[in-house]
Amino acid sequence: MIIGVPKEIKNNENRVALTPAGTQEFVKNGHTVYVQSTAGEGSGFLDEEYIASGAQILPDIESTYAKAEMIMKVKEPIEPEYNLIRENQLLFTYFHFASYEPLTHAMIKNKSICLAYETVERPDRSLPLLVPMSEVAGRMSIQEGAKYLEKPLKGRGILLGGVPGVRPAKVLILGAGVVGTNAAKMAAGMGADVTIMDVNLQRLRYLDDVMPANVNTFMSNEYNIREMIKVCDLIVGAVLIPGAKAPHLITRDMLKEMRPGTVLVDVAVDQGGCIETCKPTTHQDPTYIIDDVVHYCVANMPGAVPYTSTLALTNATLPYAMQLANKGWVKACQDNRDLALGLNIIKGDVVYDAVADAFGLPH
Ligand code: NAD
Repeated sequence: MIIGVPKEIKNNENRVALTPAGTQEFVKNGHTVYVQSTAGEGSGFLDEEYIASGAQILPDIESTYAKAEMIMKVKEPIEPEYNLIRENQLLFTYFHFASYEPLTHAMIKNKSICLAYETVERPDRSLPLLVPMSEVAGRMSIQEGAKYLEKPLKGRGILLGGVPGVRPAKVLILGAGVVGTNAAKMAAGMGADVTIMDVNLQRLRYLDDVMPANVNTFMSNEYNIREMIKVCDLIVGAVLIPGAKAPHLITRDMLKEMRPGTVLVDVAVDQGGCIETCKPTTHQDPTYIIDDVVHYCVANMPGAVPYTSTLALTNATLPYAMQLANKGWVKACQDNRDLALGLNIIKGDVVYDAVADAFGLPH
Protein backbone atom coordinates (compact mmCIF):
# COMPACT_ATOMS: atom_id res chain seq x y z
CA MET A 1 0.00 0.00 0.00
CA ILE A 2 1.09 3.59 -0.50
CA ILE A 3 1.10 5.48 2.79
CA GLY A 4 1.23 9.27 3.07
CA VAL A 5 2.21 11.20 6.19
CA PRO A 6 1.43 14.92 5.91
CA LYS A 7 2.78 17.56 8.29
CA GLU A 8 0.14 18.59 10.83
CA ILE A 9 -1.11 22.10 10.12
CA LYS A 10 -3.37 22.62 13.12
CA ASN A 11 -2.10 25.40 15.36
CA ASN A 12 0.61 24.25 17.81
CA GLU A 13 0.37 20.59 16.77
CA ASN A 14 3.89 19.17 16.80
CA ARG A 15 3.11 15.47 16.77
CA VAL A 16 3.49 13.30 13.66
CA ALA A 17 1.58 10.11 12.80
CA LEU A 18 4.56 7.92 11.89
CA THR A 19 8.13 7.72 13.21
CA PRO A 20 11.23 6.58 11.32
CA ALA A 21 10.92 3.26 13.22
CA GLY A 22 7.34 2.82 11.95
CA THR A 23 8.46 3.73 8.44
CA GLN A 24 11.04 0.95 8.56
CA GLU A 25 8.33 -1.58 9.53
CA PHE A 26 6.08 -0.55 6.65
CA VAL A 27 8.95 -0.72 4.14
CA LYS A 28 9.97 -4.16 5.47
CA ASN A 29 6.41 -5.31 4.76
CA GLY A 30 6.64 -4.13 1.16
CA HIS A 31 4.78 -0.82 1.47
CA THR A 32 5.73 2.59 0.11
CA VAL A 33 5.92 5.52 2.54
CA TYR A 34 5.78 9.19 1.52
CA VAL A 35 6.48 11.73 4.24
CA GLN A 36 5.95 15.45 3.75
CA SER A 37 9.18 17.37 4.29
CA THR A 38 9.68 18.48 7.94
CA ALA A 39 6.56 16.52 9.09
CA GLY A 40 8.54 14.99 11.97
CA GLU A 41 10.55 18.06 12.92
CA GLY A 42 8.27 19.18 15.78
CA SER A 43 8.73 15.77 17.43
CA GLY A 44 12.47 15.70 16.83
CA PHE A 45 12.55 13.44 13.73
CA LEU A 46 14.46 14.78 10.74
CA ASP A 47 13.79 14.09 7.04
CA GLU A 48 17.15 12.31 6.83
CA GLU A 49 16.04 9.80 9.47
CA TYR A 50 12.90 9.00 7.49
CA ILE A 51 14.97 8.62 4.30
CA ALA A 52 17.38 6.28 6.10
CA SER A 53 14.34 4.20 7.16
CA GLY A 54 13.18 3.90 3.55
CA ALA A 55 10.68 6.77 3.16
CA GLN A 56 10.53 9.17 0.26
CA ILE A 57 10.23 12.83 1.16
CA LEU A 58 7.71 15.00 -0.70
CA PRO A 59 7.97 18.79 -0.76
CA ASP A 60 4.38 19.74 0.08
CA ILE A 61 1.07 18.66 1.53
CA GLU A 62 -0.66 18.54 -1.88
CA SER A 63 1.67 15.90 -3.31
CA THR A 64 1.55 13.86 -0.08
CA TYR A 65 -2.25 13.64 -0.24
CA ALA A 66 -2.22 13.08 -4.01
CA LYS A 67 0.08 10.04 -3.92
CA ALA A 68 -1.27 8.16 -0.90
CA GLU A 69 -3.85 5.37 -0.66
CA MET A 70 -3.82 5.68 3.15
CA ILE A 71 -3.20 8.98 4.93
CA MET A 72 -1.91 8.70 8.49
CA LYS A 73 -2.40 11.81 10.59
CA VAL A 74 -2.74 12.88 14.21
CA LYS A 75 -5.38 15.62 14.23
CA GLU A 76 -8.61 15.76 12.25
CA PRO A 77 -8.29 17.36 8.79
CA ILE A 78 -8.94 21.09 8.88
CA GLU A 79 -10.53 23.24 6.16
CA PRO A 80 -7.45 23.69 3.89
CA GLU A 81 -7.11 19.87 3.76
CA TYR A 82 -10.72 19.06 2.88
CA ASN A 83 -10.22 19.41 -0.87
CA LEU A 84 -6.98 17.42 -0.88
CA ILE A 85 -8.81 14.26 0.20
CA ARG A 86 -10.24 12.16 -2.60
CA GLU A 87 -12.81 9.42 -3.14
CA ASN A 88 -11.80 5.99 -1.76
CA GLN A 89 -8.79 7.40 0.11
CA LEU A 90 -8.37 5.85 3.58
CA LEU A 91 -7.80 8.31 6.44
CA PHE A 92 -6.51 6.95 9.76
CA THR A 93 -6.40 9.72 12.38
CA TYR A 94 -8.29 11.33 15.30
CA PHE A 95 -11.51 12.86 13.95
CA HIS A 96 -13.84 13.57 16.93
CA PHE A 97 -16.63 14.03 14.37
CA ALA A 98 -19.42 14.59 16.88
CA SER A 99 -17.77 17.80 18.07
CA TYR A 100 -17.61 19.50 14.63
CA GLU A 101 -20.39 19.21 12.07
CA PRO A 102 -18.61 20.89 9.09
CA LEU A 103 -15.87 18.23 9.23
CA THR A 104 -18.49 15.47 9.15
CA HIS A 105 -20.18 16.97 6.07
CA ALA A 106 -16.85 17.55 4.31
CA MET A 107 -15.83 13.90 4.81
CA ILE A 108 -19.26 12.69 3.63
CA LYS A 109 -18.90 14.83 0.51
CA ASN A 110 -15.42 13.67 -0.49
CA LYS A 111 -16.41 9.97 -0.20
CA SER A 112 -13.26 8.97 1.65
CA ILE A 113 -13.03 6.16 4.23
CA CYS A 114 -12.62 7.65 7.70
CA LEU A 115 -11.25 5.35 10.40
CA ALA A 116 -11.09 7.27 13.67
CA TYR A 117 -8.47 6.55 16.32
CA GLU A 118 -10.85 7.54 19.10
CA THR A 119 -13.49 4.89 18.36
CA VAL A 120 -11.18 1.89 17.85
CA GLU A 121 -12.34 -0.24 20.79
CA ARG A 122 -11.17 -3.42 22.49
CA PRO A 123 -13.61 -6.14 23.65
CA ASP A 124 -13.22 -4.88 27.26
CA ARG A 125 -14.52 -1.49 25.99
CA SER A 126 -11.15 0.22 26.46
CA LEU A 127 -10.02 2.66 23.78
CA PRO A 128 -6.45 1.67 22.90
CA LEU A 129 -5.69 4.75 20.81
CA LEU A 130 -6.85 7.18 23.52
CA VAL A 131 -5.05 5.46 26.39
CA PRO A 132 -1.54 6.68 25.44
CA MET A 133 -2.61 10.34 25.62
CA SER A 134 -4.26 9.76 29.01
CA GLU A 135 -1.02 8.19 30.21
CA VAL A 136 0.92 11.26 29.08
CA ALA A 137 -1.58 13.73 30.57
CA GLY A 138 -1.78 11.82 33.87
CA ARG A 139 1.96 11.79 34.34
CA MET A 140 2.25 15.41 33.25
CA SER A 141 -0.43 16.56 35.68
CA ILE A 142 1.94 15.98 38.60
CA GLN A 143 4.94 17.57 36.85
CA GLU A 144 2.84 20.68 36.13
CA GLY A 145 1.20 20.65 39.55
CA ALA A 146 4.57 20.46 41.27
CA LYS A 147 5.78 23.42 39.22
CA TYR A 148 2.76 25.63 39.99
CA LEU A 149 3.06 24.85 43.70
CA GLU A 150 6.23 26.94 43.63
CA LYS A 151 5.86 30.37 45.22
CA PRO A 152 6.96 32.47 42.20
CA LEU A 153 4.21 30.74 40.20
CA LYS A 154 1.63 31.66 42.91
CA GLY A 155 1.53 28.24 44.60
CA ARG A 156 1.81 27.42 48.30
CA GLY A 157 5.56 27.11 48.04
CA ILE A 158 5.66 23.47 49.04
CA LEU A 159 7.97 20.78 47.65
CA LEU A 160 6.00 17.69 46.65
CA GLY A 161 8.32 15.20 48.32
CA GLY A 162 9.25 17.30 51.38
CA VAL A 163 12.73 16.65 52.83
CA PRO A 164 13.90 14.68 55.89
CA GLY A 165 12.20 16.33 58.87
CA VAL A 166 9.58 18.13 56.73
CA ARG A 167 6.29 16.50 55.69
CA PRO A 168 5.63 15.98 51.97
CA ALA A 169 2.79 17.71 50.11
CA LYS A 170 -0.65 16.14 50.05
CA VAL A 171 -1.98 15.22 46.60
CA LEU A 172 -5.63 14.39 45.91
CA ILE A 173 -6.56 12.63 42.67
CA LEU A 174 -10.23 12.47 41.63
CA GLY A 175 -10.79 9.48 39.33
CA ALA A 176 -8.73 6.30 39.32
CA GLY A 177 -8.77 5.50 35.60
CA VAL A 178 -5.82 5.81 33.22
CA VAL A 179 -5.10 9.50 33.97
CA GLY A 180 -5.59 9.12 37.73
CA THR A 181 -3.48 5.99 38.05
CA ASN A 182 -0.61 7.52 36.11
CA ALA A 183 -0.84 10.68 38.19
CA ALA A 184 -0.81 8.65 41.42
CA LYS A 185 2.25 6.73 40.32
CA MET A 186 4.20 9.91 39.55
CA ALA A 187 3.14 11.70 42.73
CA ALA A 188 4.02 8.64 44.81
CA GLY A 189 7.40 8.38 43.10
CA MET A 190 8.14 11.98 44.04
CA GLY A 191 7.39 11.16 47.68
CA ALA A 192 4.06 12.96 48.08
CA ASP A 193 1.29 11.81 50.40
CA VAL A 194 -1.29 10.68 47.81
CA THR A 195 -5.02 9.97 48.05
CA ILE A 196 -6.88 8.64 45.01
CA MET A 197 -10.69 8.65 44.88
CA ASP A 198 -13.17 6.83 42.66
CA VAL A 199 -16.75 5.56 42.78
CA ASN A 200 -15.62 2.16 41.50
CA LEU A 201 -14.76 0.04 44.52
CA GLN A 202 -13.26 -2.74 42.40
CA ARG A 203 -10.82 -0.25 40.95
CA LEU A 204 -9.90 1.05 44.40
CA ARG A 205 -9.30 -2.51 45.60
CA TYR A 206 -6.96 -3.12 42.67
CA LEU A 207 -5.01 0.10 43.26
CA ASP A 208 -4.77 -0.64 46.96
CA ASP A 209 -3.03 -3.88 45.98
CA VAL A 210 -0.56 -2.48 43.45
CA MET A 211 0.25 1.06 44.60
CA PRO A 212 3.08 1.94 46.98
CA ALA A 213 2.42 2.64 50.66
CA ASN A 214 2.20 6.41 50.20
CA VAL A 215 -0.97 6.05 48.06
CA ASN A 216 -4.28 5.68 49.90
CA THR A 217 -7.62 4.98 48.25
CA PHE A 218 -10.83 6.73 49.34
CA MET A 219 -14.43 6.47 48.14
CA SER A 220 -15.49 9.44 46.04
CA ASN A 221 -18.48 11.31 47.45
CA GLU A 222 -19.15 14.93 48.34
CA TYR A 223 -18.61 14.42 52.06
CA ASN A 224 -15.17 12.86 51.61
CA ILE A 225 -14.12 15.39 48.96
CA ARG A 226 -15.05 18.30 51.27
CA GLU A 227 -12.94 16.74 54.00
CA MET A 228 -9.91 16.26 51.74
CA ILE A 229 -9.77 19.63 49.97
CA LYS A 230 -9.09 21.51 53.21
CA VAL A 231 -5.75 19.78 53.68
CA CYS A 232 -4.55 19.02 50.14
CA ASP A 233 -1.93 21.05 48.26
CA LEU A 234 -2.44 19.67 44.76
CA ILE A 235 -5.76 18.35 43.40
CA VAL A 236 -5.93 16.55 40.05
CA GLY A 237 -9.28 16.14 38.24
CA ALA A 238 -9.25 12.89 36.22
CA VAL A 239 -12.89 11.82 36.13
CA LEU A 240 -14.66 10.49 33.06
CA ILE A 241 -18.23 9.38 32.52
CA PRO A 242 -18.14 8.05 28.93
CA GLY A 243 -20.21 10.10 26.52
CA ALA A 244 -21.23 12.66 29.16
CA LYS A 245 -19.97 15.92 30.58
CA ALA A 246 -17.74 15.49 33.62
CA PRO A 247 -19.60 15.93 36.96
CA HIS A 248 -18.58 18.99 39.02
CA LEU A 249 -16.97 17.29 42.00
CA ILE A 250 -15.30 20.53 43.14
CA THR A 251 -17.87 23.31 43.27
CA ARG A 252 -17.28 27.06 43.37
CA ASP A 253 -18.01 27.34 47.10
CA MET A 254 -15.36 24.72 47.92
CA LEU A 255 -12.52 27.05 46.82
CA LYS A 256 -13.06 29.06 50.03
CA GLU A 257 -12.31 25.92 52.04
CA MET A 258 -8.91 25.43 50.37
CA ARG A 259 -5.66 26.93 51.57
CA PRO A 260 -4.28 29.86 49.54
CA GLY A 261 -1.85 28.60 46.90
CA THR A 262 -3.57 25.23 46.46
CA VAL A 263 -3.13 24.06 42.84
CA LEU A 264 -5.94 22.46 40.81
CA VAL A 265 -5.03 20.58 37.62
CA ASP A 266 -8.25 19.65 35.79
CA VAL A 267 -7.22 17.09 33.19
CA ALA A 268 -10.91 16.39 32.48
CA VAL A 269 -11.23 19.91 31.03
CA ASP A 270 -11.78 18.43 27.55
CA GLN A 271 -15.08 16.95 28.82
CA GLY A 272 -16.12 20.18 30.52
CA GLY A 273 -13.97 19.69 33.63
CA CYS A 274 -14.78 18.17 37.04
CA ILE A 275 -14.00 21.47 38.78
CA GLU A 276 -16.82 24.01 38.41
CA THR A 277 -14.46 26.97 38.04
CA CYS A 278 -12.43 25.26 35.29
CA LYS A 279 -12.27 26.85 31.84
CA PRO A 280 -9.92 25.67 29.05
CA THR A 281 -6.47 27.27 28.92
CA THR A 282 -3.48 26.91 26.58
CA HIS A 283 0.21 26.11 26.99
CA GLN A 284 0.93 29.79 26.28
CA ASP A 285 -1.17 30.90 29.24
CA PRO A 286 -1.89 27.75 31.27
CA THR A 287 -3.11 29.09 34.64
CA TYR A 288 -5.44 31.59 36.26
CA ILE A 289 -6.33 32.28 39.87
CA ILE A 290 -9.70 32.36 41.63
CA ASP A 291 -9.93 32.86 45.41
CA ASP A 292 -6.12 32.42 45.71
CA VAL A 293 -6.41 28.94 44.18
CA VAL A 294 -4.27 28.25 41.07
CA HIS A 295 -6.19 26.61 38.19
CA TYR A 296 -4.31 24.72 35.44
CA CYS A 297 -6.76 23.59 32.72
CA VAL A 298 -4.83 22.97 29.49
CA ALA A 299 -7.04 21.04 27.09
CA ASN A 300 -4.24 19.37 25.10
CA MET A 301 -1.62 18.63 27.71
CA PRO A 302 0.27 16.03 25.57
CA GLY A 303 0.97 18.79 23.01
CA ALA A 304 3.71 20.14 25.27
CA VAL A 305 5.74 16.93 25.05
CA PRO A 306 5.48 15.98 21.37
CA TYR A 307 8.47 13.66 21.40
CA THR A 308 6.96 11.41 24.10
CA SER A 309 3.41 11.84 22.79
CA THR A 310 4.34 10.91 19.22
CA LEU A 311 6.15 7.77 20.34
CA ALA A 312 3.33 6.82 22.73
CA LEU A 313 0.67 7.34 20.07
CA THR A 314 2.52 5.58 17.26
CA ASN A 315 3.35 2.59 19.48
CA ALA A 316 -0.41 2.11 19.72
CA THR A 317 -1.45 3.02 16.16
CA LEU A 318 1.22 1.17 14.17
CA PRO A 319 -0.04 -2.40 14.73
CA TYR A 320 -3.49 -1.33 13.48
CA ALA A 321 -2.06 0.68 10.58
CA MET A 322 0.02 -2.34 9.58
CA GLN A 323 -3.11 -4.51 9.39
CA LEU A 324 -4.79 -1.89 7.22
CA ALA A 325 -1.78 -1.72 4.92
CA ASN A 326 -1.22 -5.48 4.69
CA LYS A 327 -4.83 -6.50 4.13
CA GLY A 328 -6.60 -3.40 2.84
CA TRP A 329 -9.25 -1.78 5.03
CA VAL A 330 -12.14 -4.11 4.09
CA LYS A 331 -10.36 -7.35 5.03
CA ALA A 332 -8.56 -5.79 8.01
CA CYS A 333 -11.89 -4.62 9.46
CA GLN A 334 -13.55 -7.99 8.75
CA ASP A 335 -10.76 -9.77 10.62
CA ASN A 336 -10.46 -7.33 13.54
CA ARG A 337 -13.55 -6.00 15.33
CA ASP A 338 -11.50 -3.39 17.23
CA LEU A 339 -10.57 -1.77 13.92
CA ALA A 340 -14.07 -2.13 12.45
CA LEU A 341 -15.41 -0.02 15.32
CA GLY A 342 -13.07 2.74 14.18
CA LEU A 343 -14.98 3.11 10.90
CA ASN A 344 -16.99 6.34 11.10
CA ILE A 345 -17.71 7.29 7.48
CA ILE A 346 -17.42 5.02 4.42
CA LYS A 347 -17.69 6.63 0.98
CA GLY A 348 -20.33 9.13 2.02
CA ASP A 349 -22.21 6.93 4.50
CA VAL A 350 -22.00 7.62 8.22
CA VAL A 351 -21.61 4.18 9.82
CA TYR A 352 -20.93 5.18 13.45
CA ASP A 353 -24.23 5.66 15.28
CA ALA A 354 -23.11 8.35 17.73
CA VAL A 355 -21.86 10.56 14.86
CA ALA A 356 -25.05 10.11 12.83
CA ASP A 357 -27.19 10.77 15.92
CA ALA A 358 -25.22 13.91 16.78
CA PHE A 359 -26.34 15.58 13.54
CA GLY A 360 -29.57 13.72 12.75
CA LEU A 361 -28.02 11.94 9.75
CA PRO A 362 -29.33 8.63 8.34
CA HIS A 363 -27.47 5.45 9.30
P1 NAD B 1 -10.93 6.58 32.47
O1 NAD B 1 -12.27 6.16 31.93
O2 NAD B 1 -9.78 5.64 32.38
O3 NAD B 1 -11.10 6.96 34.03
C1 NAD B 1 -12.13 7.77 34.53
C2 NAD B 1 -12.40 7.35 35.96
O4 NAD B 1 -13.32 8.30 36.54
C3 NAD B 1 -13.06 5.97 36.09
O5 NAD B 1 -12.27 5.12 36.91
C4 NAD B 1 -14.41 6.27 36.73
O6 NAD B 1 -14.86 5.26 37.63
C5 NAD B 1 -14.07 7.57 37.48
N1 NAD B 1 -15.23 8.31 37.95
C6 NAD B 1 -16.44 8.49 37.37
N2 NAD B 1 -17.24 9.23 38.17
C7 NAD B 1 -16.51 9.55 39.27
C8 NAD B 1 -16.76 10.29 40.45
N3 NAD B 1 -17.94 10.87 40.67
N4 NAD B 1 -15.76 10.40 41.38
C9 NAD B 1 -14.56 9.83 41.18
N5 NAD B 1 -14.28 9.10 40.08
C10 NAD B 1 -15.23 8.97 39.15
O7 NAD B 1 -10.61 7.97 31.77
P2 NAD B 1 -9.14 8.62 31.57
O8 NAD B 1 -8.53 8.06 30.34
O9 NAD B 1 -8.41 8.52 32.83
O10 NAD B 1 -9.51 10.14 31.24
C11 NAD B 1 -9.92 11.07 32.24
C12 NAD B 1 -10.21 12.41 31.60
O11 NAD B 1 -9.00 13.00 31.13
C13 NAD B 1 -11.13 12.34 30.37
O12 NAD B 1 -12.04 13.42 30.41
C14 NAD B 1 -10.18 12.51 29.22
O13 NAD B 1 -10.81 13.02 28.06
C15 NAD B 1 -9.23 13.50 29.83
N6 NAD B 1 -7.95 13.70 29.11
C16 NAD B 1 -7.51 14.99 29.00
C17 NAD B 1 -6.29 15.27 28.41
C18 NAD B 1 -5.82 16.70 28.37
O14 NAD B 1 -4.85 16.99 27.66
N7 NAD B 1 -6.40 17.61 29.13
C19 NAD B 1 -5.52 14.25 27.86
C20 NAD B 1 -5.97 12.93 27.98
C21 NAD B 1 -7.21 12.66 28.62
